[in-house]
Amino acid sequence: MREIELREKSICGLCGQKVGKSSPVFYRTRVTVYVLDLAAIQRQVGLTAVLGGNARIAQAMGMDEEMAKKMDEHEMTLCSECAVRSYVISAALETVR
Ligand SMILES: [Zn+2]
Repeated sequence: MREIELREKSICGLCGQKVGKSSPVFYRTRVTVYVLDLAAIQRQVGLTAVLGGNARIAQAMGMDEEMAKKMDEHEMTLCSECAVRSYVISAALETVR
């Protein structure tokens, strides 16, 4: 990350402080909001039922529709203190370690 980008992304989205205050580590997070397409899911469940409950055959024979649609996406900077306090970020970091 070069200077201009760092300046644009150097404020923590939770506490409003500049990153690097207590640690040189900071985080960029992306939250993507999806909504289930219940009609598409019901169509696939119905096809599965017609095919005797075999989901794999229904997947092969179905329309391969999107079952969830992206509604929105947000990116945010988090300082290390806020990231450690955030249950979601801590949980996400545990899964990648
Ligand atoms: Zn913060």
